[in-house]
Amino acid sequence: MLKNYMELAVEEMLDDVLADYAKKNPDTCTCPRCRLDIMAIALNTLPTRYVVTDEGGIYTKVAMELVGGRAQVIAAILNGIKSVKNSPRH
Ligand SMILES: [Zn+2]
Repeated sequence: MLKNYMELAVEEMLDDVLADYAKKNPDTCTCPRCRLDIMAIALNTLPTRYVVTDEGGIYTKVAMELVGGRAQVIAAILNGIKSVKNSPRH
C-alpha cells in the first residue's frame, strides 16, 4: 500500500508541537476541526513523498528517518497553527 510519509510524520509530531504551542499560547484551539485544518496546511507546504508499506503496516519510524529534518515538519505545523488561529473554521 502507498503512504505519504510526510503525512505520517505530521501525524506523529502534531500532538507534541500543538501541545507545546498551546502551553505558551493558551488561546490556541485544539478541537478536531482545527487539528485537521492545521494538518492540511502543514501538508500543503511540505513535499509529498510516497513510500510502499507491507500489509498496510504504517512504518512511522522509517518515515521519520526518511523525513530527515524534523525541523522542516515542525516549522510547517507551526505555520498551520498560526494560520488556523488567525482564521479558525470551527
Ligand atoms: Zn477549533
